Amino acid sequence: MKGFLERLQWKLAGMMQGRRGADTLSSFLMVVGIVLLLVSIVPGLDVLSWVALIALAYALFRSYSKNVAARDRENAAFERAVEKPRKQLSLARKAWANRKTTRYFTCKGCGQVLSVPRGKGTLRVVCPKCKTESTMKS
Ligand SMILES: [Zn+2]
Repeated sequence: MKGFLERLQWKLAGMMQGRRGADTLSSFLMVVGIVLLLVSIVPGLDVLSWVALIALAYALFRSYSKNVAARDRENAAFERAVEKPRKQLSLARKAWANRKTTRYFTCKGCGQVLSVPRGKGTLRVVCPKCKTESTMKS
């Protein structure tokens, strides 16, 4: 039995040679596919199961593709596209977690996100990036 599992492991490792496996885009497509599959249970939305199938098939194709250069390019483009929303989401999460102690606002000069402690009255804030001065009620 142990020999069989070892051989299976070697076979799988050999099969993955030259393939990248799941990257960020493939993982994202997998999650989208599974979510769409669950949503498609709702009556009237059963068309979504086809979209889910396409997303899952494409994710599998990408994971097992031997054209690593092309898949890397797709993944890099995806990473660039989601960089900004991902940052905004992480900032929103941070702002929500610290909402009782910290007040967040964007600089009028450069759009940089700044923060001041809450409950300190009216504060004069100088942006560390562009030196724009603003007064802030904390
Ligand atoms: Zn600024």
